[in-house]
This record gives sequence, structure tokens and C-alpha cells, in this order.
Amino acid sequence: IGYLNPQIEGEGVSLRQTIKVANPNYLFLDLHISEWAPAGKIVIHFSKDGERVLSRDYELKSRRPGSAERKGFDNADVLYLITPDRFINGDPSNDYVQGMLEKPNRSDIDGRHGGDIAGIEKSLDYIKNLGFTSIWLNPLLENDQPKYSYHGYATTDFYRVDARFGSNEAYVALAQKARDMGIGMIMDMIVNHCGHHHWWMDDLPTPDWINFDNTYVRTNHTKFATQDPHASEFDKKMFFDGWFDTNMPDMNQRQPLLANYLIQNSIWWVEYAELYGIRMDTYPYPDMHFMTEWTKRVMAEYPNFNIVGEEWNGDPAIVSYWQRGKVNSNGYTSYLPSLMDFPLQEQVRNALQSDEPNAVRKIYEMVARDFLYPDPMNLVVFPDNHDMDRFFTQVDFDYDLFKMGLVYHLTTRGIPQLYYGTEILMSNPHGTGHGVIRSDFPGGWEGETKNALTGEGLSEAEKTALEFVRSLLQWRKDKKVIHSGKLIHFLPENNCYVYFRYNDSDKVMVIINRAEEAQILDLSRYSEMIGGKTSGKDVLSGKKYTLEGTVEVAGKTA
Ligand code: CA
Repeated sequence: IGYLNPQIEGEGVSLRQTIKVANPNYLFLDLHISEWAPAGKIVIHFSKDGERVLSRDYELKSRRPGSAERKGFDNADVLYLITPDRFINGDPSNDYVQGMLEKPNRSDIDGRHGGDIAGIEKSLDYIKNLGFTSIWLNPLLENDQPKYSYHGYATTDFYRVDARFGSNEAYVALAQKARDMGIGMIMDMIVNHCGHHHWWMDDLPTPDWINFDNTYVRTNHTKFATQDPHASEFDKKMFFDGWFDTNMPDMNQRQPLLANYLIQNSIWWVEYAELYGIRMDTYPYPDMHFMTEWTKRVMAEYPNFNIVGEEWNGDPAIVSYWQRGKVNSNGYTSYLPSLMDFPLQEQVRNALQSDEPNAVRKIYEMVARDFLYPDPMNLVVFPDNHDMDRFFTQVDFDYDLFKMGLVYHLTTRGIPQLYYGTEILMSNPHGTGHGVIRSDFPGGWEGETKNALTGEGLSEAEKTALEFVRSLLQWRKDKKVIHSGKLIHFLPENNCYVYFRYNDSDKVMVIINRAEEAQILDLSRYSEMIGGKTSGKDVLSGKKYTLEGTVEVAGKTA
């Protein structure tokens, strides 16, 4: 194609530039589409030596009304994270797809198990009835890799949903059906790396498409490289350009054609699937100037949108660096609205696990660092995800601690996210790998006696947990005071953490008593928040309280 000369036919569309690269199998066309260009057909004609040899039709679609104003997920939402291959196998006929490299193998914990888009569609009632308002799916794009491809983070085609999950059309239909039910779709995107079986790896468009000349050099994972004023150029290069793994080539986003390809691809998916948000994988690892440009352009297209970045670091000084509005000492300006709150997740886990006398202070001290964030309300808070021990495992299979952790995440500031199955106490033995953490959801496969969707075969403990999560989520759904109310907290004493969410009309007092024994709290300490109120109601039990003198709180409860 690189030897051909293109010509555009289409009203309001013109060819601004034709870019030829060293590899003649590629041609990059830079189109100008005017504001007034009507929807309709565009034809690209290719000619050689003045003679037309090829024509291709493309459809220029009219934009959906209101698309640019689309709203992203916010504090009123609770996100349900799903690993599609491990959730529900709604269509066993697509488990094996002829010609694709990895075959299904449910007995292999790292293999493909067959979960798919059809399965997620079957679960929408369950998700809605629980009270979730959006779903974040681990990546669905094609991962035609020879092994360990079920997780979806080694893309082999950025424009195609993996046939073992369904199709582009099925994904769009799922997003639409979910949206009609009040559930927004958040797409997991990766622009740092691709799969080593991506179709372009056999014939790279340019020699600089992949970092380190397309040879594997492992990233040093030093997140400090970005912010550290003393970082060496060597360490920075190793961090940004190093690969995650041999099967995940690290893309060079300084290559402008690749950068534009990735940005346009993201915008195309937002528009095509009518997305409610993006979760961006490994946010600090790509070239940071590219990442800034990517975020800036997506947000310029959709100013009310939301994007949450993954910066897996326990230090809020590092995480907050990336949030929009942050004034950084090196002048770096970010456009990223939201980040995953890894620092808080870590401290909630530490506080609940700990035997220290006043361990809940760890949570208090982390929230107190919110001054580092321009917008702490827009952080995504979560007890677990696909990369760490399940929450029930984190609290050592202690149901009381489990409940306290969920109450915390669903009432503190931020946008909560739970991992599929956490609602039915799914757990993994301590120290197990990712494949076990991402175990199959009960009832997702034919012939199982246990089914979370119907409740059939669930243990009493699992049913109790499910109803607990449901009651909390349903309660949270309409509580503006939890969505957008302010947060005031008190220095923990005797391993008991008290905070309030409040707005002009409502007040919620949360007491997290991590101590084994009951506490008698002197309410006068909280008079600045309780004010003239004389009574309150326990959200979970319905029990009425008189807000005078003292209140007694049982041990290990919230
Ligand atoms: Ca399937």
C-alpha cells in the first residue's frame, strides 16, 4: 500500500497529509473532516502511476445527540469489577474458536475457562438487584496469545473484541442493555504494551514502534522515576521503556503515528460503545507526555467524562501527582480526573488485620493525607481487585472484619468498587496466584450445584453476606449525603474510628469499632457534628438510638 497514492472522495472530507514510512506495507492518512461534513459514504481511491487500482468505502456516521456531553461515573456510583473469562459462560459454543492460539482448558487455573459477554448479559439483573450502578470489565479486546491470555492485558488487536468473549457488536449490545438498566460500562484500556502476537509484531510499521528495539528488557518498576528530582536518566529509561514481560512488548508512544493511533482508538471506543468511563491500566508506565496528551484529548472530547488511572503505590504523594489539578513542583500538569486509591486500600487492610492496640489509626492517618489530592472525592476506593488477595482473605476469613471493611468502603469519600464474588465471600488461600484469585463465579458453568445468581446451593454464610452487601448498596444508592456530603473524622481512640458524612439535610455517623470489646462512647466529644439532633437510627439494624450521654457499640462491628 505504501507505493500507492490515495485520494479522498466525500463531502466535507479532505486529505490533509499522506505519511509514508520505511515499511511499504503501511500508509498513514491524515484526514480533515469539517464540522459541516454530512453523514454518508467516504471513498478512498488508491492509484499507481496515475491508474486507479483500488477503492475502499468507509461510512462517516453522524454523531449521537449528546455524545460529547456524556457523563462519566461519579460518587453516586458503585462499580462491580468482573474478570470476564472467569465470571459466567453464557455461550459455550465460543469457548473454542478455530484458528485462535489458546484452547479452552478449565482445569488449568491459568487457562481460558470460557466466560464471556453473553454471561455478563445474563447477570445484569443480579448486578442491578444488588445495587451496583456500573461495571468495569477486565479487558475484552482480542488476546490471541499462545498461553495465559484469559486476563486480557496482552492486546493483539485494539479494534476487535476477542471472539471467545463475543464480538464488537455483542459488546455494544451489552453496554446498551446495561445502560437501559441504569448500569454504565467502564472499559479497561492498556496503552503501555500490547501482546507479542499482535498482528503488527510480524511487520512493524516503523523501526521505533516498540521500545528497546523490540527486544525484551524488563522494566525496573521504580515508580519514583517519574517524580524523583534526583532520578538518573538510566533508571527513567528502564522504567518507562522496559517491558512488563517477554509476551508484552512495550510500545514507544513517542512515535507520533503510534501515539495518534492509540488516542484515536480510545475515543473511537467511547463513541462506539457509548462508554461511561475508562479505567487506564499501568498509568505511570507509558511515556508520560504521551499519557498526558491521551488524557487531555479524551477529556477535551468528553468534558464530563471520568477516567480512573491505575498507579499501584501505597504513597499518596506518588498517587496524587497524577490527579487533575495537582500543582507539581516540577511543573507537570495532569488531566486525569481519578485514580485508584491504593494507599487507602493498603491501610484499611493493615488496620483490620493488625493486633496493634489502636490500628484503625492507620485509616485515619491515610485519610488525613487527603490534602495531597486536588479532588479526593473522585478517587476510586476498593477493598480488592483482580491483582490482590480477595477481601475475605485479606481479613483472614473473619466475617466481622469483612463487614466492617465493606461498611467503611461504602461510606467513606470516593467512588467504591467491589470485585465480583466478594459479595458471596469468595476467597483464595493466602499466598495463591492470580488464577486462584480470579476463580470461576459459582453458577457460571453448566451443571453446577451452586449458583450465586439464583442463590441455589449457597451456604448460610454466603447468603448472609450477599444480603448484607445488597442492603448496604441499596441504602447507599439514594444517599446524597454519602455521594457528595463532606467528611469529618475524629482521632481514633481504643481502636475505634468515628466519622461523619454530612450535607445540609442529612448526617450519617459511622463508628468502626475494631476492638474486640464493646465501647461506650461519650457523645459530647462529637457535639460539633451531632449538634441539636436527639435521636438516630442504625442503618443496618434499624435500631433507634437516643443521642444523649453515651452510646454503646459492640466489639468488632460497624
Ligand atoms: Ca464461552
